[in-house]
Amino acid sequence: MFDTLSDRLSGIFTKLRGKGRLTEADIDATAREIRLALLEADVALPVVKAFIHRLKERARGSSVSQALNPAQQVIKIVHEELIHVLGGEARRLNFAKQPPTVIMLAGLQGAGKTTLAGKLARWLKAQGSQPLLVAADLQRPNAVNQLQVVGQRAGVEVYAPEPGNGVGDPIAVAKESIEHARRHMRDIVIVDTAGRLGIDAEMMAQAVGIRDAVDPDEIIFVIDAMVGQDAVATAEAFRDGVGITGVVLSKLDGDARGGAALSVREVTGQPILFASTGEKLEDFDVFHPDRMASRILGMGDVLTLIEQAEAAFDSDQKEKMTAKLLGGEQFTLEDFLEQLAAVRKMGPISNMLSMMPGMGQMKDQLAELDDKHFDRVEAIIRSMTPTERTTPKIINGSRRARIARGSGVTVMDVNQLLNRFENAQKMMKQMGGMMGLPGRRKATK
Ligand code: GDP
Repeated sequence: MFDTLSDRLSGIFTKLRGKGRLTEADIDATAREIRLALLEADVALPVVKAFIHRLKERARGSSVSQALNPAQQVIKIVHEELIHVLGGEARRLNFAKQPPTVIMLAGLQGAGKTTLAGKLARWLKAQGSQPLLVAADLQRPNAVNQLQVVGQRAGVEVYAPEPGNGVGDPIAVAKESIEHARRHMRDIVIVDTAGRLGIDAEMMAQAVGIRDAVDPDEIIFVIDAMVGQDAVATAEAFRDGVGITGVVLSKLDGDARGGAALSVREVTGQPILFASTGEKLEDFDVFHPDRMASRILGMGDVLTLIEQAEAAFDSDQKEKMTAKLLGGEQFTLEDFLEQLAAVRKMGPISNMLSMMPGMGQMKDQLAELDDKHFDRVEAIIRSMTPTERTTPKIINGSRRARIARGSGVTVMDVNQLLNRFENAQKMMKQMGGMMGLPGRRKATK
């Protein structure tokens, strides 16, 4: 998702690098290119217009720090405007004062409602709730069955009409399910509803009927992020037809251009609550506008990384690391050692590394990393002299042999570490480069 947009934006920022200040013409040209990039990503025109308007206004104004260079200023503004478009702060689910909390799912057929029902139920259950799934999609012959499968996987009860009981009325089923939830102490009721392939008055009337019968605390509109420009019309129809209180983006794992994701918040005026990123029940998370914006800018999940790092790094180390990351300073083996120690406090090393920009693709290699390996790395670096740690270039053959002896490993291990370190150093440079600093190179994906 968003790959093309990320590439385009990255190219636009590169052009700004090296400029001393932003002229009016620079701002216009940049705004024009960003406008095109957003339109090509299928972002809805009104959303693009508003985005560009704010971007220009802010780039001309003095709202950005004078301490930043022009490329950094534009990245900062685009980042903040992306966060704005995606909804600002993450919003939590609304819970009822008196249980059960009722969550109704609405959306077109194939949007991912039934899958989401299972994901949400699993997620809520893991947080200590006792959800009940309700099969109020009686349109598709297989829908009830599908929800039952999903419910079983999530380990959650499914309320469905008894086959052959003559109960074919989804509104009645939804209504009864609330009674059932009360009797059986279920604190959350998730109602799956029927969709159609397109907007359809009958479907909308049914959704309204279910809504009125269950009086939901949340009406979640599920939208397939792979649909392009149609997303806007669909979102508007559900907003006006049923009224929605939140949005879930599904299929964010796809390789579509992502315009729906960027438009739906502004079009509906309702927050994106969750993101679905695959067919499995675990492929699901709370939606964080700031993280998504960073991802679009190709900064990887640096924010998640920093958030987790905060728990482990003391503030001194943290400042140093941030300065290195943002300042494009030389990253030494000494830093490497320090970070390794701090990172190891945070849990499985492969998880941490996979969140760093450019590392996502290296999952298989990362899986091989184990803690023994890192013991060895630490031993190798500790066998180096301080000068060797800051200037690894001087580590020639005889020094390598000495270090290998000192740390009880082979020369090959030392070579391997130095190669790895060189790559890490390059990556740090690229991350500095993402912030528009000198020596910038396009980040590899
Ligand atoms: P519904 O008609 O709205 O209930 O949609 P379903 O839940 O049946 O989903 C339609 C199809 O999309 C199914 O094949 C799901 O497995 C698939 N699907 C749902 N969510 C995701 C997702 O986040 N990523 C991917 N790749 N597929 C999904």
